[in-house]
Amino acid sequence: MRGLKGKRVILTGGGSGIGAATCRRFAEEGAHVFVFDLDGNAARETASAIQQGGGEAGAFEVDITNRDAVFSAVEDVSGGGPVDVLVNNAGWDRLVPFIESDTDLWTRVIDINLYGPLHMHHAVLPLMKKQRHGRVVNIASDAGRVGSSGEAVYSACKGGIIAFTKTMARELARSGIQLNAVCPGPTDTPLFSSFAEGETGDKIKTALEKAIPMGRLAQPGDFPGIVCFLASDDAGFITGQTISVSGGLTMSG
Ligand code: NAD
Repeated sequence: MRGLKGKRVILTGGGSGIGAATCRRFAEEGAHVFVFDLDGNAARETASAIQQGGGEAGAFEVDITNRDAVFSAVEDVSGGGPVDVLVNNAGWDRLVPFIESDTDLWTRVIDINLYGPLHMHHAVLPLMKKQRHGRVVNIASDAGRVGSSGEAVYSACKGGIIAFTKTMARELARSGIQLNAVCPGPTDTPLFSSFAEGETGDKIKTALEKAIPMGRLAQPGDFPGIVCFLASDDAGFITGQTISVSGGLTMSG
């Protein structure tokens, strides 16, 4: 992929699943990766695996719901050079029918999946505007395009992130900044396993495998290609787009 060598990439939630796989791929493409994660040990594991493989990476223990922590970590990164790419990947949910859910759960889900990315954008976009270049890839969800039972508030956040991405893509198109959203379908990560435990979990997995045209859940390694592409020079005229990676489970026009 063209243009990623030497680029400085902040990726949230890089300690696990889709984020960790994407950090590794950015490093393989020659980028310097700054791994932000609530779980500092997980962030350090991703970064040190990259360093051991000869790549460049740093780890930051950051809770993206904490605006001050976000601004301070972004300042640490930008003190050493530009922030060329931001990937908002950190996310979280718990499966509960909306009618049975309480406002504590809504607050947590909205804080992590909506306010967190908003803080990250607010910290990074002014830097990109000053540089007159930047790429943002937001990891949303097919739940935000087609809904997902038991994930009403999460779906609202992810739908919000898709709309936010399009709006910012319009606002910043002439400032050299491009933003796009990637929507995973069901993906075999620790987040998915936390919903699909035990016998019921196995039934959910089997039902999904039947429903997904390509016959399997996504794996973390299914995402780095599209994310790195959208951050690369090969995607130089693409902005405001939403792309599902779901083995054909959703096919949006
Ligand atoms: P994961 O749980 O494997 O990884 C998420 C990472 O985000 C973890 O390392 C976690 O510590 C970190 N994180 C959580 N809250 C944070 C916070 N407040 N601040 C900083 N870091 C935080 O999950 P995953 O499945 O790899 O999910 C990655 C993204 O993909 C999420 O945005 C998720 O909503 C989205 N997604 C996942 C699926 C799926 O089926 N796994 C489907 C659709 C969308």
